[in-house]
Amino acid sequence: MQAVVLEKVASLNLREIEIEEPLGPHDVRIGIHTVGVCGSDVHYYRHGAIGPFVVREPMVLGHEAAGVVLETGTAVTSLKAGDRVCMEPGVPDPNSRATRLGLYNLDPAVRFWATPPVHGCLRPSVVHPAAFTFRLPDNVSFAEGAMVEPLAVGMHAANKARLRPGDVGVVLGAGPIGMVTALAALAGGCSRIFITDVQQPKLDLAATLGPITPVNVAAGNLADAVRSATDGWGADVVFDAVGLPQSVAQALEVVCPGGCVVMIGMPGAPVPFDVVAAQVKEVRIETIFRYAHVFPRALALMGSRKIDVRPLITERYGFTDSVAAFDYACRMKPTSVKVQIELK
Ligand SMILES: [Zn+2]
Repeated sequence: MQAVVLEKVASLNLREIEIEEPLGPHDVRIGIHTVGVCGSDVHYYRHGAIGPFVVREPMVLGHEAAGVVLETGTAVTSLKAGDRVCMEPGVPDPNSRATRLGLYNLDPAVRFWATPPVHGCLRPSVVHPAAFTFRLPDNVSFAEGAMVEPLAVGMHAANKARLRPGDVGVVLGAGPIGMVTALAALAGGCSRIFITDVQQPKLDLAATLGPITPVNVAAGNLADAVRSATDGWGADVVFDAVGLPQSVAQALEVVCPGGCVVMIGMPGAPVPFDVVAAQVKEVRIETIFRYAHVFPRALALMGSRKIDVRPLITERYGFTDSVAAFDYACRMKPTSVKVQIELK
C-alpha cells in the first residue's frame, strides 16, 4: 500500500510499502480518513530519534487518526463495518502487570504507532484492536476525531490534577498540547485559565477558546497577572506544557500553597528543580506519560460541544501532498496549531 515512510533522518517519501496485517478475531480493519501531524512525527523526521527511540529502518509516520471500519474480526461485537471511529495508538500487552493495574500506558511492552520500530497510520488502512477503537458521535467529524489523540494528553493531565470546580488554572505553553490542556481543564471545572507563550498569534487564538487569559511572557509578567486575579494566592493548578528550566521554575512560582503542578512537556535534558520552593507550598507534583482511559470521555465532550477543537485545525493537506505537509510542519507559521492530512 502507499504510505508516508520515514526512510531515515530528514528523508521522507510517499511510496509503496508492504505491511503484513492479518485480521485477528478481536481486531478491526479501518480505512484511514484523516491523520494529524504531531510534534513527535516532525521530531523523528528532523532528528531521527526521540530519547531512546531511534529510527533504524523505514517507518510509516502518523498516530493521530480517524477513519471508517471496513471489516471486523470474528469476535468483535462492539463495532461494525461503516462505523466512523478514531483509534488509541498505543496497544499494551493485555497480560502485563501495568495493564492489569490499569496503568496500561506505562506498560514497557506497549506498541505505539510511529514509535520505532512500530509503523504508524499514514496509509490507507490499518488493523487495530477493537478495544482501542472508538466510535465517533454523529456530530463529530473525522478531523475532530483525529484530534482526540492530542486532546487525550490534556484530558489525562486534567485527571492527574484532580481539578475541583472553580479552580484557577495556568497552562504554560500555547502549542497544540497547551491548547488542548486548557480546553480539558475548563471542561474539568477550571473557572478560568491563564495561558502563556511568546508567539502572540497563538495567544490570540487561545483567547477565543473560552475564559482564557493570554499572557505573552516575552512582554508581560505571568506571576503579576495570576497574583492580581487570586488576591495574591496563586493558581490552584499549573500545567507545564513547555518542559524547559524556565517553565518548571515558573510553575513553582505561580502555583498556590497546597496546589498542584502537572508536568506535561518533556525536557530534552534534566532540568533544575527548586525543592525548597515546592516544599514551602507543599506543592503536589504530578507527571504524565501519554494517557489512559480517556478516549471515550474526550469524544463525549466533543459530542456535547463542551470541548470544540475545530479552531485548532489550521491547515489541511491531501495525502499526495503529505511530504509538503511535513515540510510545512517543520516551519509552521505562528498562526498554525494543527496540520492534518486527509486520505479521502
Ligand atoms: Zn500526537
